[in-house]
Amino acid sequence: MEFDLSWLLLGLPMAFVLGWGASRFDLRQWRLENKQAPRSYFKGLNYLLNEQQDQAIDAFIEAVQSDPDTSELHFALGNLFRRRGEFERAVRVHEHLLSRADLSAADRDRAQHALALDFLKAGLLDRAEVALQRLEGTAFEGAARLALLAIYERSRDWAQAAEIAQRMSQAKQGQFANREAHYLCEQALQAAATNPEWALDQLDLAIQKAPQAPRAYLEKAKILDRQQQFEAVDLCLAQLARDCPGYVPLGVLMWANAAQKIQRQAALDLCLQKLYAERPSLDLLEARIALLNAREPLQALHDTLALYEEHLNQEPSLVAAAGWLKAHAQIAPAKGEGDDLPKTLQRALDRATLPLSRYRCAACGFEAKTYFWHCPGCQSWDSFPPQRIEEL
Ligand SMILES: [Zn+2]
Repeated sequence: MEFDLSWLLLGLPMAFVLGWGASRFDLRQWRLENKQAPRSYFKGLNYLLNEQQDQAIDAFIEAVQSDPDTSELHFALGNLFRRRGEFERAVRVHEHLLSRADLSAADRDRAQHALALDFLKAGLLDRAEVALQRLEGTAFEGAARLALLAIYERSRDWAQAAEIAQRMSQAKQGQFANREAHYLCEQALQAAATNPEWALDQLDLAIQKAPQAPRAYLEKAKILDRQQQFEAVDLCLAQLARDCPGYVPLGVLMWANAAQKIQRQAALDLCLQKLYAERPSLDLLEARIALLNAREPLQALHDTLALYEEHLNQEPSLVAAAGWLKAHAQIAPAKGEGDDLPKTLQRALDRATLPLSRYRCAACGFEAKTYFWHCPGCQSWDSFPPQRIEEL
């Protein structure tokens, strides 16, 4: 019998390859893995979908125990703990992930980010800050910097916040010019009492950084007003009227006072008339009335009534109606002892107009007697319109 050697040459390598493949491929093991790990994993998912978080956690712990190398399960478990407010357990899961030497660089960053979120949610701001700083240069850098900004704003660390905002602007991670101007304003406010000149420099920097942002003009005018530099107040607010006319109502009474001190009532009245014609406002009206002080008292009262009537013809305003009644009572005082109806009406109107004179955050509805640049309710910047509630 003739033996074909070419079959042997071909068959031997094939047998070797098949043998090697079989040694790598354990069918039983494959079946076991496909049956056991996914089963508890899907069981956990199913519990999650049914909003049974306790059972989901038990299922995921079982899955993690049977397959301790799978990072996805750890992430799922850690996030679940955090969502349930079990921050210690979430931190333990994410720290365990970070301690693993076999973790890929992407998963390591993800675990670091998750750990920072655990600390943030737990209110451990110092530890969150350190965890977030470690994310510089990773895919989570933008999110980490935003979270750091929130931490520095909460702790009123405006210098650090300004540095982060500057870095984000440079890296084109968003528009931060207005925010940077706010941080400069906050730093100026902190120093205004002890070092007003430095504060004024910071406000000039803020104006340079964001000329269309109204706050720095107003803060600067306040400091100058305290220093009784009325010419400078007039100049500064004229700049505000030119660059951000909608925000003049927030400083207009201070402007009227400064104009009276430097005898510029007529010029300011002209300017306010123009602004008022474009956008009637109760604050502009009050400032125009304040400018009437220089006139003879009875004439001033008649002019005041005329201004309120002009406003009421345009806007059905309760605040203007209360103002009209007050001025009218001064012209025509009560005729006798029993004639106290106007006073009673006045009191009722004053009470009714109090909530209407507040400012309201457009983002969360927080209301306040004073104007806020940074909402105490929802922490938004520039969320308060510069009009009173009655004018919204
Ligand atoms: Zn708010």
